[in-house]
Amino acid sequence: MNQIKGKNYSVYFEKNGYDKLDEIVKQNSYSSIYVLVDSNTNKECIPIFKKRISNSFSFIVIEIDEGEENKNINSCQKVWTILSDKGGDRKSLVINLGGGVITDIGGFIASTFKRGIDFINIPTTLLSMVDASIGGKTGIDFGNLKNQIGVINDPKLVVIDPFFLNTLSIKELRNGYSEMLKHGLITDKKYWDKVSTILLEKKEPGIDEIFTSIKIKNKIVLDDPFEKNKRKVLNFGHTVGHAIESFFMNSQTHNKLSHGKSIAIGMIIEAYISYDLCKLKISEAKEIKNVFNSIFEIVNLTENDCDQIISLLKHDKKNSHGKTNFVLIESIGNALIDIQVPVKNIKKGFEFYLS
Ligand code: NAD
Repeated sequence: MNQIKGKNYSVYFEKNGYDKLDEIVKQNSYSSIYVLVDSNTNKECIPIFKKRISNSFSFIVIEIDEGEENKNINSCQKVWTILSDKGGDRKSLVINLGGGVITDIGGFIASTFKRGIDFINIPTTLLSMVDASIGGKTGIDFGNLKNQIGVINDPKLVVIDPFFLNTLSIKELRNGYSEMLKHGLITDKKYWDKVSTILLEKKEPGIDEIFTSIKIKNKIVLDDPFEKNKRKVLNFGHTVGHAIESFFMNSQTHNKLSHGKSIAIGMIIEAYISYDLCKLKISEAKEIKNVFNSIFEIVNLTENDCDQIISLLKHDKKNSHGKTNFVLIESIGNALIDIQVPVKNIKKGFEFYLS
């Protein structure tokens, strides 16, 4: 499988990825190599990683606790301390072996340690393969706000090895499906048709579909690395989706909702708004709803829940000058950015989801 070229790095697949890793390690004569993992990837992925690199270089494992709640400054301090204590210097390398939490925080730790050392991403969740490890965004959460502190900085290399997915739960796989489907909705109807058909048939997308998703995200990032314009399309479904995720995260009476499920509901609602305000056909909005509802169970939302979620939209990161900006689609495969949506249309989107 061919590599995918980013601006300053490439994404390599399977054996080619480990060959490239070996080449980079040899070329750069790193003084020390650290592999950052969380408690799960230490157990599930380090043994595979060791086999893959078959002793071609030695490394020190640094573990942080798993989960989004640990993507914070305390974990950074812990890792920076270990790097310092173990003699990490400007010629050290950090390899991030984990999901999006590890690639985000590991990229940030490496980008700031000694004013920036090399890092390599080896994503181990579907979401981090098709999304988080690509595009150079690194960072941590701060206070109650996600991804509040960070830098945009590219890795030296991304290695995609779908073998890691064998130990991933179906719930985590579904988070990745949401983002893959989104890639089709915003840029490529054929890809949407392909992935949605696979999922409707209760099969799993494979390496070819992972490859296409990375290609789509990479192309968008190449055109607009700092999210001034086109990169915003990647936020389709995320305006409403993030508000839904925050609502459930902070609720005393509801359980947390996964990111993938929140974004899926966001995409259904934003598809309806796209029908209401842009030219999306109602048949396409219904098709989108049908595909996501076949993956995720429908969530019951009361009128009061919907009102509270809508009021959270004012914290969306895409807002400017006090207005909520949406990404909408005029047809499957064609996205529009910076669309302001009145509250009454957002409410109709919720009604469509719940109908
Ligand atoms: P995650 O890293 O928390 O991984 C999900 C769970 O799967 C964790 O419990 C983890 O320990 C476990 N896990 C990881 N790999 C495993 C494996 N191979 N086998 C068994 N268990 C495994 O979450 P995620 O969904 O991968 O990523 C979410 C994060 O990514 C969020 O913090 C989000 O903000 C970030 N993100 C970043 C970008 C970006 O552009 N930088 C884009 C999208 C998402």
